[in-house]
Amino acid sequence: MNYIDKGKHYVMNTYSRYPIVLVRGKGALVYDETGKEYLDFVAGIAVNNLGHCHPSVVKAVKEQAEKMMHCSNLYWYMPQVELAELLVENSFGDKVFFCNSGAEANEAAIKLARKYSKKKYGDHKYGIITMEQSFHGRTLGSLSATGQTKYHAGFEPLAEGFKYVPFNDFEALKNAVDENTCAVMIEPIQGEGGIYEASPEYLKKVRELCDERGLLLIFDEIQCGMGRTGKLFAYQHYGVIPDIMTLAKGIAGGLPLGAMVATDEVASGFMPGDHASTFGGNPVSCAAGIAVMKELLGGVVDNAREVGDYLKSRLVELKESHSSIIEVRGKGLMVGIQMAMADVSSIINEAMKKGLLVLSAGHGVIRMLPPLTITKDDVDRAVKILDEALNACGV
Ligand SMILES: *Cc1c(COP(=O)(O)O)cnc(C)c1O
Repeated sequence: MNYIDKGKHYVMNTYSRYPIVLVRGKGALVYDETGKEYLDFVAGIAVNNLGHCHPSVVKAVKEQAEKMMHCSNLYWYMPQVELAELLVENSFGDKVFFCNSGAEANEAAIKLARKYSKKKYGDHKYGIITMEQSFHGRTLGSLSATGQTKYHAGFEPLAEGFKYVPFNDFEALKNAVDENTCAVMIEPIQGEGGIYEASPEYLKKVRELCDERGLLLIFDEIQCGMGRTGKLFAYQHYGVIPDIMTLAKGIAGGLPLGAMVATDEVASGFMPGDHASTFGGNPVSCAAGIAVMKELLGGVVDNAREVGDYLKSRLVELKESHSSIIEVRGKGLMVGIQMAMADVSSIINEAMKKGLLVLSAGHGVIRMLPPLTITKDDVDRAVKILDEALNACGV
């Protein structure tokens, strides 16, 4: 049996997978079992932010694996403390909680928001308002926060206390706040929903509303954080500071790690025993995370901004010759191409055949999340392949 048939036989059927078996990667390139090369503009869905097998991440992982692979959070260990310091010293935050994934980071944020608010205002403060078309994860709590009914179907009853309002609609949000509301949760740039950016005026008003009504503002930066948008964190584009921020995906350059960053005031809502994770902040993942942070701060974030602007300008150019392209959206290297058709899978498949990996998002959006280390030459190559793929599809 080949690996695809074997996979279908043994692995649970939760993903519709592309029919290639990837075996190794280097930088922005990845290779399948036949040796075919692909330019990787998916990067593990914004995980491989430094590309595949970045030497400083590989070195950090090897060294830490030889020292200590796991240590209970009943003890202190150095990589976790050092990564927390790097995250705090480079963000609004004062304290970090570590876990293993995005969904878990959002679970932690939901629990902290409730715990803090109940302590401060009373037991009635538990409601969380999130956005339509948002994506916050697949665990029952983070799924309940996700404002897309297609992901809810079949899993009800969901966790109580969540309401959804249209994104970028301040009046709708204001009207949805009631005496039970304790927090508002937003992706500053919606990823899975289709690369939609919050407007700066909207986020400023949301911050003011939260301050007036005693609500916590939670930014889910799991996809748009860690340099993706050309700043270390997306909130830095807006001058709007959240109370809690969640991170995962690119934080450890390919290893599983999630983090919730909060102010001291809000973090005081948790006491020992309130929340925990056996693997959370694992030494090897945190060692990788330290290497990632150093590379990001050492110039990679600037590269994401520069090359991201170039990518967007090349895609806007491409729009001239393809009427199927409606709009190019996004910041830095988090880019969405809104197509005229709702289903972009044939374009994605055609690009893959021609050696470029891209993915979809929302309705009719081709999403590009390349490593933040790519060059303008990589962009030229990707745009050329996309152009050919659109031609091959006749659009
Ligand atoms: C991917 C994603 C999540 C979920 O992360 P997992 O690691 O898959 O649990 C949550 N929020 C956003 C914005 C994401 O992009």
